[in-house]
Amino acid sequence: MKLSKRIAIGMIAVLPALHGCTTNPVTGQSQFSLLSRADEIAIGEQQYVPSQQSQGGEYTVDPNLNAYISSVGQKLARVSDRPDLPYEFVVLNNDVPNAWALPGGKIAINRGLLYELEDESQLAAVLGHEIVHAAARHGATQQSQSTILGGLGSLIQAVGESYGYGALTQQGVALGASAFTAQYGQGQELEADRYGMDYMGRVGYEPMGAVELQQTFVKLSEGQNTSALQAFFQSHPPSQKRVAANLEKARSMSDGTRNKAAFDRAMSQIRKDKPAYDLHTEALKLAGAKDYQGALAKVEQAIAKQPKEALFWTTKGQLQTELKNEAAAKTSFNKAISLNNEYFAPYLYRGIISVDQKEYAAARSDLLQSNQWLPTAYATYYLGLSNANLGNIVEARQNFTAVQQVGGELGQAATRQLEQLGN
Ligand SMILES: [Zn+2]
Repeated sequence: MKLSKRIAIGMIAVLPALHGCTTNPVTGQSQFSLLSRADEIAIGEQQYVPSQQSQGGEYTVDPNLNAYISSVGQKLARVSDRPDLPYEFVVLNNDVPNAWALPGGKIAINRGLLYELEDESQLAAVLGHEIVHAAARHGATQQSQSTILGGLGSLIQAVGESYGYGALTQQGVALGASAFTAQYGQGQELEADRYGMDYMGRVGYEPMGAVELQQTFVKLSEGQNTSALQAFFQSHPPSQKRVAANLEKARSMSDGTRNKAAFDRAMSQIRKDKPAYDLHTEALKLAGAKDYQGALAKVEQAIAKQPKEALFWTTKGQLQTELKNEAAAKTSFNKAISLNNEYFAPYLYRGIISVDQKEYAAARSDLLQSNQWLPTAYATYYLGLSNANLGNIVEARQNFTAVQQVGGELGQAATRQLEQLGN
């Protein structure tokens, strides 16, 4: 029920009334906008949780880091051209150097991007830039109805890359139009840089931070070529042109603060944990090559360095599942959930094991919880199996019908289940 309701809301969100020409709140120029203010806030609020969930979920090991990022973001938001939007900032537990903004001011920055920054002025450059995307309605103007839905494609890729081998995860996000990525044009990128620097200036940040940030992006785009990074740079094309434009703008502004000490303090925990995350990345690579024993050894090392990271326990459980040790896997998922009970993946994987062990009531509860965070085809398919075995035939039929619409192998399996259920 929960699931079908969510999908219905998603459908409404992508069919907004056409609003035609409005004034860009940042530049004052007229622009074509598909969305009203109420629409853009509603889309942002609706997509924020699933967008976070499908990209690693919130980083939870050091809550002080989230608080710090939020305080810097809110300072910039208050001096922006639309200080009245319901801004929120979150750090995502994701290795890819990425940041994004949803319409209405819902903003995220990945753990992987924080590692590339050196001080608060560079962080302010990232957040200021994303605030402009939200404030200037870049997402809301660029996205036609179909691209709001179509953003899902690149997101599936990015998620697949970050989480390595899990075909589960890749397929997992394919249900429901619950994810949102924006593709901005070069003009909008330059606009976000320029006005973002104005916000930096109003707070008193050193404007060279925005130049250095672009230099970092150019360097990253040259050096690395994983498909996750390529997907990121497609949506945020870095260029010498942006470096030059930011430099010219910075020269017209006064010097400001870098707050390096505060930044370093806030970053101390994730910097200390960097070797653990690197071990986890190595584990995912080995798992991708089907060396599950080797991967398990790496993830054990990661856990030894940072036992509070739920993501490590989730990966450990997945590897134990691959190695057919379901009891141990369940213990790992229990641990992951005890550390972070706000992430869909360990509920999904534990639920699937419970189905395998014919513990259908426990499975149903986990799979419902998983779908509450992020509706996925996998959870819904196994929810259907649980419901069928519990005698909840009407619900089971709804589950399989939803999965059937996703298609693919899972869709075909759902069709067979529906045939078995009969009329
Ligand atoms: Zn951008």
